[in-house]
Amino acid sequence: MAKRVLVSGGAGYIGSHVTVELINAGYEVVVADNLSNCDMTCFEGVKKITGRDDIPFYQVDCCDPDAVAGLFAENEIDAVIHFAAFKAVGESVAEPIMYYRNNLVSFLNILEESRKQGGCNVLFSSSATVYGEAEVLPVTEQTPRLPATSPYGNTKQMCEDILRDSVAAYKGVKGIALRYFNPIGAHPSALIGELPRGVPNNLVPFITQTAIGKRECLSIFGNDYPTEDGTCLRDYIDVVDLAKAHVAAVARMLDGKMKEDYEIFNVGTGRPVSVSELVNAFEKVNELKLNYKYVDRRPGDVMAIWADTTRANEELGWKAERSVEDTLASAWAWEKHLAGK
Ligand code: UDP
Repeated sequence: MAKRVLVSGGAGYIGSHVTVELINAGYEVVVADNLSNCDMTCFEGVKKITGRDDIPFYQVDCCDPDAVAGLFAENEIDAVIHFAAFKAVGESVAEPIMYYRNNLVSFLNILEESRKQGGCNVLFSSSATVYGEAEVLPVTEQTPRLPATSPYGNTKQMCEDILRDSVAAYKGVKGIALRYFNPIGAHPSALIGELPRGVPNNLVPFITQTAIGKRECLSIFGNDYPTEDGTCLRDYIDVVDLAKAHVAAVARMLDGKMKEDYEIFNVGTGRPVSVSELVNAFEKVNELKLNYKYVDRRPGDVMAIWADTTRANEELGWKAERSVEDTLASAWAWEKHLAGK
């Protein structure tokens, strides 16, 4: 019998790509999403890509304990991947209570039900934001976490700790935290991708929206950093590669391959790319000119971060494969798909 994975937040950007890859790998998937930060576009795309019209979808809020209990009562769940969380750094500073309540309560409800089942495999979507401005690069999983600089970042650290402590306390509960670097791009079909609400905060959606004419000009935040070209360095990970890391992590849990009951993996490429390099690569691969200007640094930005991916490569048997050019071409294809072009 195929194992069944509950994907909370499965209608969103990363959740929809993960759902596709889980189904491709032979898992059954149950999607739960309250559609607070997306609509059904990506879930419809998932159905088209996989040719599966029968993926169970629950429009529920994981902050509602009864709703989460219902998910577990109605489905035999072998593993949970928990994405359902708010993710805008600036908004979290303005609305901390909303962020703490949403991101913590939903995860606590998922863990409570997992525990009640007599155990479950729980994968938490964490972030490289937990490393802050690291002193030594690239960062490994042993690199110390630094105090969070936003409520959003704090919820990632707190949920990691809640998972660690729950695994230690409750027999049968196992956990993996995946620390994502900068997920970008879209599925090669251009049927699913990122759907930012309002003005995008992240670089690549801002680039594609500028290229299509929705935004006038990209502002590059700072060109006076002590890096080679003066702009910040990040580790941009293709969203399909990222999704495949989840499949590898779920398989590790379900096949009894974990070395510890709680494990952490960096999910990145191991390759630092500057903002200017990314913009140039986007122009080149898509044969267009982007309107951009250099402006002041964005407060709170770290200068540079990229992953040491040795542990994920060796333990998960996973490696990022798609080139940054192919990823940027996919991001542009998705933007054009949205514009009906
Ligand atoms: N960035 C930029 N202009 C934008 C958005 C982002 O220059 O409109 C830069 C930002 O300063 C950072 C990089 O792009 O150096 C990645 O930013 P993003 O917000 O996508 O991710 P994060 O800051 O979380 O790494």
